[in-house]
Amino acid sequence: MKKHFSFSAHFHSLRFKIAIIVLLVGIIPFMVCVPISLKAYKSVAIHTDATNLMAEAVQYNNQIVTSGYVAGEENRVLDTKLKAVADSNNGRILVINSNLKIVRDSFSVDMGKTVIWKNIIDTLQGNQLYYYDENTKTIIVSVPLTNSQGEIVGALVMNKSTDYVEQNIDIFVSYMLIGGVIVTLFSILVAVFCAIRFSRPIKKMSTSLDGIIREYTNELPDQKSFTELEQVSGKFNEVIGKLQSIDESRQEFVSNVSHELKTPLTSMKVLADSLNGSDNVPIEMYREFMVDIGEEIDRETKIINDLLSLVRMDKSGAKLNVSAVNINELIEHILKRLKPIADKADIEVVFESFRPVVAEVDEVKFTLVITNLVENAIKYNNQGGWVHISLNSDHQFFYIKVEDNGLGIPEDSAPHIFERFYRADKSHSREIGGTGLGLAITKSAIAMHNGEVKVRSKLGEGSTFDVRIPLNYIEKENQ
Ligand code: ADP
Repeated sequence: MKKHFSFSAHFHSLRFKIAIIVLLVGIIPFMVCVPISLKAYKSVAIHTDATNLMAEAVQYNNQIVTSGYVAGEENRVLDTKLKAVADSNNGRILVINSNLKIVRDSFSVDMGKTVIWKNIIDTLQGNQLYYYDENTKTIIVSVPLTNSQGEIVGALVMNKSTDYVEQNIDIFVSYMLIGGVIVTLFSILVAVFCAIRFSRPIKKMSTSLDGIIREYTNELPDQKSFTELEQVSGKFNEVIGKLQSIDESRQEFVSNVSHELKTPLTSMKVLADSLNGSDNVPIEMYREFMVDIGEEIDRETKIINDLLSLVRMDKSGAKLNVSAVNINELIEHILKRLKPIADKADIEVVFESFRPVVAEVDEVKFTLVITNLVENAIKYNNQGGWVHISLNSDHQFFYIKVEDNGLGIPEDSAPHIFERFYRADKSHSREIGGTGLGLAITKSAIAMHNGEVKVRSKLGEGSTFDVRIPLNYIEKENQ
């Protein structure tokens, strides 16, 4: 079959998701770290520069104070020197007197102007300050000018351009861009590698599954990949094993049922032929054969009824027809019905009730439960054996125990007896008669009542079936 490219399928594929995650894990830290480190570099560079500039400004204190600038005097030598310093910083120098008036400006444009700037006012109170102007990319430091008596007579303001910091950042950015391209390419390589590496075992598994779909007797091959995938394939093989055993038991069931259905028919045919074929058959023989034919019909009916009960309970959404049922009366009624079979094998059936129990159950299905358990206890028993049935309850559940001292169940069969079509000791069971459906029906019916059934048994000594069912039926939501 031709496969069409589906963007959505690729978008949701594990391979695509792994690739994206690896790619992001590679690129995101880079994208986050680069701006952070650039910002950190910038703030450290500015702080260091500002501190150095302040130290430099302090050095000019004596020369400026003794030059008479503050008092309005001229000093050409110092003018030239300060201009040279300002130029070397690619900035500007201002000398401001205590009246906030600019008495010297290395740009010679603002002389005589009054500055009202908070930093200058603070500086005239003795504080050394710096400020970074983001717009002009300039550091502005201001230090107080003090005379020999320690009085503050003015402020020296020095600017320095931080163009070089920006230039350095530009250089870093270009390096980072190259680094970014390398990191991205590398991340893509790693992402593609990881996507292929991690999705390959799944693809292999999918191919093996295709093989299993074609030929479902196969198993998933043992492939060493990831623990999780090994667990999944182990579980899958378990499922296949279960399916195979269901298939086997179904095949066995079909042959069992065909055999069981055929046996009564064959007997009836033989009986009918022998009556039809001969003249003057005595009336007693007719009666006897008709009784035999009746029994065979009963057996046939039982098998068909069992099958129908199971199919009905199997149907999804099968509902219980719940009503308040007197369990004591129901059990007594069933035992009365089963008495003839028990008597035939000389089996003593005793019912012991600890208290009267009325519970919400589906009478028809619950009858199947008790009938199957007691019938089995009688069927798989020895001549002259006993069957004890007891009924008890507490405020939440009622308990039924069906105990016999019959054949018992082999230890290796016990876990399987509730499986449909399963019959322990097949040769013996066939002789006894049955379909292997009774306990499967019992278990389904008990489960539908939200109850539980457990078995204890010892080969040759007998078996005990314990049933526990809630007194009040609560419908499960997704039953
Ligand atoms: P069947 O139609 O064969 O009786 P069931 O589903 O009722 O089918 O029982 C399954 C198998 O469990 C029986 O074939 C029998 O081997 C075993 N079994 C059930 N109940 C008893 C019991 N009380 N004692 C011994 N074996 C039992």
